[in-house]
Amino acid sequence: MVSLVLPLGLLLLAAGPSPERYDVVIRGGRVMDPETGLDGIRDVGLRGDRIARISSEPLAGTRVLDARGLVVAPGFVDLHQHHHDAETYRLKAKDGVTTALDLEIGAPDVARFLDEHRGRSLLNHGTSASHPARRVALLGAPQPEGALVPPAGPATAGALTADQVRHLRDALGAELDAGGLGIGMGLAYTPGATRGEVIEMFRLAAERRVPVFTHVRSTGPKEPGSSIESVSEVIGAAAVTGASLHIVHMNSSGAKDSPACLALVEGARARGLDVTTEAYPYGAGMTAVNSAVFDPGWQEKLGLDYADLELPETGERLTRERFEALHASPDPRLILIHTNPDAIVDAVILHPLVMVASDGVRLHPRNAGTYARVLSRYVRSQQSLTLMDALRKMSLMPARRLETATAAARRKGRLQEGADADVVVFDPATVADRATYRSPAEPSVGVRFLLVSGTVVVEEGRVVEGVFPGRALVSEGRSAP
Ligand SMILES: [Zn+2]
Repeated sequence: MVSLVLPLGLLLLAAGPSPERYDVVIRGGRVMDPETGLDGIRDVGLRGDRIARISSEPLAGTRVLDARGLVVAPGFVDLHQHHHDAETYRLKAKDGVTTALDLEIGAPDVARFLDEHRGRSLLNHGTSASHPARRVALLGAPQPEGALVPPAGPATAGALTADQVRHLRDALGAELDAGGLGIGMGLAYTPGATRGEVIEMFRLAAERRVPVFTHVRSTGPKEPGSSIESVSEVIGAAAVTGASLHIVHMNSSGAKDSPACLALVEGARARGLDVTTEAYPYGAGMTAVNSAVFDPGWQEKLGLDYADLELPETGERLTRERFEALHASPDPRLILIHTNPDAIVDAVILHPLVMVASDGVRLHPRNAGTYARVLSRYVRSQQSLTLMDALRKMSLMPARRLETATAAARRKGRLQEGADADVVVFDPATVADRATYRSPAEPSVGVRFLLVSGTVVVEEGRVVEGVFPGRALVSEGRSAP
């Protein structure tokens, strides 16, 4: 009897569903991958930190997450996140973000940033080598602890000697060796940086095959110093050095000339330059009131007045007296800047070259709501963006931007076998941002599950306690051959 039963049992196993058991199976969701165009009902099997199998047949898993009726997509890759504290990461997880990178300004010390996050991070993370922080440190006025940008002063306004430019280059080279994913340049915050200094930093980026991420020098329609001139400067630096260039927050840097600035990016790309850009879906910007952005003449330059500036905690609009007191203070207080009407923001977000990045800071709703807002406003309400195009802007495009800096980025932003198991599972009918200017820390709703490196960090809409699966994304530090 036994000898008859045993072969039958083996036969049944071989003929039935795959006997393989995955660590986690995401069951029956609408699986979408912006690179291959896959858009269908599938089971996704995860093993360890990778996506092992995507199947039309049911998969067996030690743990099964029910995704029926939900969208299963690559976790969002945010190229532009300033605050990296635990509470911010929880908000970003509920917004669908699995990787949060500080690339515009960059952490003042790459090694320290990586140390602080090792084994303690909900999300994948990384930073650029910070041109502004290294520049002010070189000039003896280090960026204050906790400040996102250096305060305006001699170290931001003054020009460097040729010798100092060489030292700055070496300092940034060391930050790239430590794992910086590119060179972060906030030119609006270091107006003393000459064109020559900028080109030298681009040269370093080209040699190391990492991108330059830049907040361009100036904003507004007024010449000299217009948005168009500022975008032209960095495109020129990319052209003459061969560096890859990523222009941050085109919405706030281009303001009402954003469409014209996007045409410059299109033109540069059409001539073979590697130039990309990003935007966040809000009309107001935010920065430190004591930064060089508000150096004398800002009203005429930006086409704004005191009443366009707002204290986020209270909603108080500024007057001249109030502004001057705040601008002169050493306190790096963040203020809202009401720059753009909805029509400009919408045009920028919908442009096919524009990827989504949050520019997240704690007192602005973009910190908590950027990604859900794109899904609710553009995909569901306006129906101006297809779901697949929205996912592309939030996952695949930012991952590709990082691929010259690190091959690890080729496993991000994709829902494919072999990709990293960074996955967002959301309800397309309800996903929405809740954060507002008055209440910027309201978490988004509709993200049912979020997985980082195969670990569930959001379960049934709630952040899981005590898990720290986030890993560092670092450059490979190689030099061009
Ligand atoms: Zn910026």
